[in-house]
Amino acid sequence: MDTCDLCHGNSGWHARARKQLVASTERELKAAEGELSSLKLLFRELLWFNFEVISQHWNKPWRTNNKYAQLCLHGYRLTEHSLRGRTAYSVEHPVYWAGWIADASAVPPWLLYRDILDATAYVEYLRCRIYDAELYAPGGSAYEKLRKETQVGRNSNENTAKHATI
Ligand SMILES: [Zn+2]
Repeated sequence: MDTCDLCHGNSGWHARARKQLVASTERELKAAEGELSSLKLLFRELLWFNFEVISQHWNKPWRTNNKYAQLCLHGYRLTEHSLRGRTAYSVEHPVYWAGWIADASAVPPWLLYRDILDATAYVEYLRCRIYDAELYAPGGSAYEKLRKETQVGRNSNENTAKHATI
């Protein structure tokens, strides 16, 4: 798709536009993958926290817990900043819960697990969409498929003329 009839001499305009679209989808994918791995790390923390809370009541052969041991669970907060046209991120780990292990209660894992499922689905969606700008442009394989199966890419006059002869 190096030569493009629609560019009328401004050769490469559409090719550059397609490259920019692919690049922005790649950036979005990278951010989504980062979010997913952070959520998974946080989930691991949450499961250990729950393990400490629940196992304090277990009997031998499990180790006995000091019920005055401190337990702390940190959250995860990612903030996006726009600084002179550039995007920057800051990460904070605010305290979600801190105190005696005997006072702690388990966190419902489903709260975070649903977020992980959503984030996984979004990463998979973006992985499938990454080359759409190329595939759906005239000449691309997805575009050709659409052209065969639908009215996409057909001249509207052509359709009107056909309709008139029926
Ligand atoms: Zn063009």
